[in-house]
Amino acid sequence: MSAPKSPAKSPQNRSELSVTPMSEDISAWYNDVIARAELAERGPAKGTMVIRPYGYAIWELLQRQLDDRFKATGHQNAYFPLFIPESYLRREAEHVEGFAPELAVVTHGGGKELEEPLVVRPTSETVVGEMFAKWISSYRDLPILINAWNNVVRWELRPRMFLRTTEFLWQEGHTAHVDEADAMEETLRMFGVYDEFARNVAAIPMVRGEKTPGERFAGAKRTFTIEGMMRDGKALQSGTSHYLGTNFAHAFDITYQDEQNTLQHAHTTSWGMSTRMIGALILAHGDDRGLVLPPRLAPHQVVIVPIGRGDALGTTTAEAQRVAGLLREQGVRVEVDVRDQSPGFKFNDWELKGVPMRVELGPRDLEAGVVVLAQRVGDEDEDGRARKHTLSVAELVDGMQARLDAYHELLVARAEAYRDEHSARIDDLEAFDAQVAHGFAYALHCGEPTCEATIQERTRATPRCVPTEGPEESGACIACGAPSAYGRRVVFARAY
Ligand SMILES: [Zn+2]
Repeated sequence: MSAPKSPAKSPQNRSELSVTPMSEDISAWYNDVIARAELAERGPAKGTMVIRPYGYAIWELLQRQLDDRFKATGHQNAYFPLFIPESYLRREAEHVEGFAPELAVVTHGGGKELEEPLVVRPTSETVVGEMFAKWISSYRDLPILINAWNNVVRWELRPRMFLRTTEFLWQEGHTAHVDEADAMEETLRMFGVYDEFARNVAAIPMVRGEKTPGERFAGAKRTFTIEGMMRDGKALQSGTSHYLGTNFAHAFDITYQDEQNTLQHAHTTSWGMSTRMIGALILAHGDDRGLVLPPRLAPHQVVIVPIGRGDALGTTTAEAQRVAGLLREQGVRVEVDVRDQSPGFKFNDWELKGVPMRVELGPRDLEAGVVVLAQRVGDEDEDGRARKHTLSVAELVDGMQARLDAYHELLVARAEAYRDEHSARIDDLEAFDAQVAHGFAYALHCGEPTCEATIQERTRATPRCVPTEGPEESGACIACGAPSAYGRRVVFARAY
């Protein structure tokens, strides 16, 4: 490779790398980070999104680790069609009511008007129900445990990249069971899988709980959700698991003969996590300088920047490649940055892209057999700059997995501390309004959808869930004074 000619920091490069500070305007920050970190771009059709290689690499890591968990809990992957006859959606009354405003409908194909319009799937309960009805005849056929990785379309009036796009990628699990007990066990198992994945892979500690009736999935009996807190105190619903009862079994005739030869309806579940989770990563961990990626989802966990001019750069680059090879042997995802850019440009770029660990390797380091290591967050000096640590190559290589694990725990603890600082038990309306402006309010609530609507109108906050853990409590509804439902405080927040 050729040596860079006096790598001056051009002002153009600098402005390309800067983002609006999060503290100034989180919306502008969010868009800047997505653009400058090259995660995604708007597609030509409104509400669509092009996921660029760096963003897609995060999705692939997420997908792989989530898929492993689905397989470990007994599920198999399958694929169902993109087009669904419109009449299918009408078979489950609540389902069609919930999804009707968001549907994309195909009326023409092959130059002719279709006899029956086709819906582009917003979710697949209906077509899966049709197939389950064919596949299930006896109790011996149950349970059926299926997952599908696909794209769905829900028409978005106010699209936001990763958070709300007209087309998005996700997985949808669909299962059928002999009875409520078995189906509820599955619903809660997958709810647990999402919660564990969010904490142990995405480093986001979630509030776990059940949706109130007004916030349930259209057609579900019970909906369980994990809700993450973003850096502006808003909630982001990150994964949901639904017990569908026999609603879809009745609509699609999913029946089976039980052991006594009596015809029974199966109990079904569905559960999903989507590319929204990338939005959650950005908003839960990021800072003024850009992305902060948790190591288990970072496409590059370590970036090595060789430093030097002329022949010296050739030598440090060769050593960087050697060290990278050693790190890869330890299972670390590592990139050597050989671009014809200044070290300063590269440091800023990788900082913005949220790479957990940065290694510098200059000619003097090479002579001394050491490298210089800095981590993205959590180890700053008094001026807020990342501390630099000089390590031997052996120390760097042998200790890297442990460092990445510690960094993961640091991000969890940081997110947990932020969430706890921005959560409060609230007992009067004035304090409620102030609390939901910057965090989660735990309040007693009557559970009435009309009362929820009044609260939302006034404060833009919605009930996120009734937490599955926490002290039991009852009293008067914070908004209307009627007796509280659920026996526990409800978490209210503004949500993405
Ligand atoms: Zn009320």
